[in-house]
Amino acid sequence: MDRIPVGILGATGTVGQRFAQLLADHPWFEVTALAASDQSVGKRYIDARQWLLPTPIPKGVRDLVVQPVEPPLDARLVFSALPWNIAGPVEERFAAAGYAVCSNAASHRLERDVPLLIPEVNADHAALIEKQRERHQGRGFIVTNANCSSTQLVLALKPLHDRFGLRKVAVITMQAISGAGYPGIAALDILDNIIPFIAGEEEKMQREPLKMLGRLNDGAVSDASFILSAQCNRVPVRDGHTECVSVEFEKKASPEEVMEALESFQPSADIAHLPSTPAPPIIVHCDPDRPQPVRDRDAGHGMAVTVGRVRPCPLFDVKFVVLGHNTVRGAAGGAIHNAELLVLQKWVS
Ligand code: NAP
Repeated sequence: MDRIPVGILGATGTVGQRFAQLLADHPWFEVTALAASDQSVGKRYIDARQWLLPTPIPKGVRDLVVQPVEPPLDARLVFSALPWNIAGPVEERFAAAGYAVCSNAASHRLERDVPLLIPEVNADHAALIEKQRERHQGRGFIVTNANCSSTQLVLALKPLHDRFGLRKVAVITMQAISGAGYPGIAALDILDNIIPFIAGEEEKMQREPLKMLGRLNDGAVSDASFILSAQCNRVPVRDGHTECVSVEFEKKASPEEVMEALESFQPSADIAHLPSTPAPPIIVHCDPDRPQPVRDRDAGHGMAVTVGRVRPCPLFDVKFVVLGHNTVRGAAGGAIHNAELLVLQKWVS
């Protein structure tokens, strides 16, 4: 099939560059437009900002000229990697102009008619697009992916919620520096240090998983009803968020049953065939010292999450550690995966 022309809003940032990297050889999408702030507009992509990734800047984008983050752009779908305080109205304008918008930003995630998607978890929530199109009175719409720490947590919780029912979840995160964008946190603040605060992160983690694990009824999502408590920390790791999770179930489950539920989790066959779906989506480790960011963040090309240390919890039922790549599964890779779902479900063609 002809590749679908796509644009990247916020193309020069940490997540924007990851989009450019992951889309370079994508079988369904071709990057035809890049957009960023006034300081980058008019420059060739290669000259606009320092390229941060270890792979070379893709040939297909290096000479594209950066444009303003306003429609029209030569694309049918745009990926948004804009800061949340910019993204809200910009994404609305693209949707109103008829574009499909796949956003990483927090601005629209909790709106009632905006899907917050992980293809293996809640592909049916994409049906909210129908409601949104009534509002936009056109073909455009916005879908979102969750913040980087919620995504990997929800992937691990999904099979457990389906099998045993979640009652309480307590999570403590150790989040990588790249999650703060570029240049992000000053080296003198994070080297040899842990920062026990990430603005707005605990609030997002306590809301977004409930929407993603909620049920779609009559064109609206009813949030899942379990209690979730999050404590978020920034740690001196470059990429990969690690989370220590304790879970209480409706139906008692042993650590062995939890491991079996995680290992046997499979998406439906059509989701499994999307280009970015990892096989398996959840990797379970039995080694006592895994997962670790350096060893496990690239599992499944950064799209798989790794769970380890599944063991009894004296406070709740079971506790474990989950790790995922924050700028791949937790950001650009997750948004591309959502765009593939939109093609599969024929919202985009
Ligand atoms: P970043 O490195 O700071 O990049 C921000 C991008 O937005 C740059 O391309 C920048 O362009 C552009 N931009 C900034 N202000 C703008 C303005 N006024 N008008 C137009 N463009 C503007 O940030 P990031 O880490 O990539 O994060 C991007 C978004 O993804 C945020 O909403 C963030 O919360 C979300 N997210 C990030 C992660 C992660 O792990 N980093 C994970 C999940 C979600 P210039 O270069 O021209 O300034």
